[in-house]
Amino acid sequence: MDLFSQEPDLLAIPYEEVAEIAGTCTKCRLAKGRTKVVFGNGPVPCDLMLIGEAPGDEDLQGLPFVGRAGQLLTQILASVGIKRPDDIYIANTVKCRPPENRAPQPDEQAACWPYLEAQIKYVNPKIILLAGSPAVKAVLKTDQPITSLRGKWLKLPGSDRSVMPLFHPAYLLRNPSKEKGKPKWQTWQDMQEVKNALEYFRQVAELAKESED
Ligand code: URA
Ligand code: SF4
Repeated sequence: MDLFSQEPDLLAIPYEEVAEIAGTCTKCRLAKGRTKVVFGNGPVPCDLMLIGEAPGDEDLQGLPFVGRAGQLLTQILASVGIKRPDDIYIANTVKCRPPENRAPQPDEQAACWPYLEAQIKYVNPKIILLAGSPAVKAVLKTDQPITSLRGKWLKLPGSDRSVMPLFHPAYLLRNPSKEKGKPKWQTWQDMQEVKNALEYFRQVAELAKESED
């Protein structure tokens, strides 16, 4: 708790407490229309993290990416051997469902950012995947279009974490062609990169462990 505010420092309390505080949060207008807060799901810590846009129907169950887009995401991850929920931690830029599933607004993402910042700290991922342009905007603070950023390795601002923007699975549902050069094909290429990078980080960690032993 800092001297001038009643709000706890989310980076200084345990993960479970951060999740508990988010569970009753009313810091932005999205609190009004939600059913459940969708905080995040997966192992803490975890080498791989994915940040989506906002919960949709997910707010009935309280788990991220369990609707149609979520099913496609599960398939995309499984195609390179990444299993949910064991191999990836998943969260969104805002934890509450926007009305009529509209895009989250910048002030809502800003209000919710301290939770995401704490999640990144505790999950401590080597790689962060950003699904869709609202996640890219909220995390990288850029207006560059997803079409020019997807598949590129970038860094989380102010840190050494690797970040890769990807097309959002809901966009892939609307663009289902697997033809070479189309978004689904491009996402397949991007996931190969992610798989290779994860393998690299695993090997580095193993080598470091061996040299300790
Ligand atoms: N479900 C989520 O949790 N996030 C999205 O971005 C879309 C669907
Ligand atoms: Fe709080 Fe985030 Fe929900 Fe807004 S979206 S009420 S900031 S948890």
